[in-house]
Amino acid sequence: MLLLRTKAEIVEAHIDAVIEEFPTPQALARAETSAVEDALRPFGLRWRARRIHETAQLLADSYNGEVPRDLKSLLDLPGVGPYVASATLATLSGGRVVLTDTNTLRVATRVAGISARGDVRRRKDVQASIGMLMGGPTTADDWLAVIDLAAKICLPRDPRCAECPIDDLCSYSLATVNPSEPHRRHKVRQRPEPRESA
Ligand code: SF4
Repeated sequence: MLLLRTKAEIVEAHIDAVIEEFPTPQALARAETSAVEDALRPFGLRWRARRIHETAQLLADSYNGEVPRDLKSLLDLPGVGPYVASATLATLSGGRVVLTDTNTLRVATRVAGISARGDVRRRKDVQASIGMLMGGPTTADDWLAVIDLAAKICLPRDPRCAECPIDDLCSYSLATVNPSEPHRRHKVRQRPEPRESA
């Protein structure tokens, strides 16, 4: 939930202090709302701190402090949408899921060469291209690799296709990058020289 609107570097820098202060959902549930807001202040979004507090209270009251491992129960938690629920399932159970967020959508639509206009999350062609990109529903680590690619290389405005490990497969790259550019030249396989006949 913290990663949804906050940069990974910020989460990484402050998450250990939060876990130390609130090591279990029960500890978080028992805390005053103001203490939770203070602890989560570095991540921004005060309303999210309140949702996380409500989620911890529900986990403590209804699930004995455990995180449920079925999609419906996860989606019933405050502030948990399809992305967080799928990511949680994938992380907790190693389950194979399809994650659709702005990052995975951006990479998938560019690779498949389809329009990203409108509410692309619900479009079947987009879902299919995400599935194809990952070879079907897959694990949290695989999705984190795509999210990392989107954050560092497949940038929203200016994708760095020259550095991308999948540029040979990507419709956007193939349509927009000049094949004579030096960074692509090394990817063109050289044909073997014809042997001279004896
Ligand atoms: S080649 Fe370019 S557009 Fe395609 S996935 Fe990589 S960075 Fe994104």
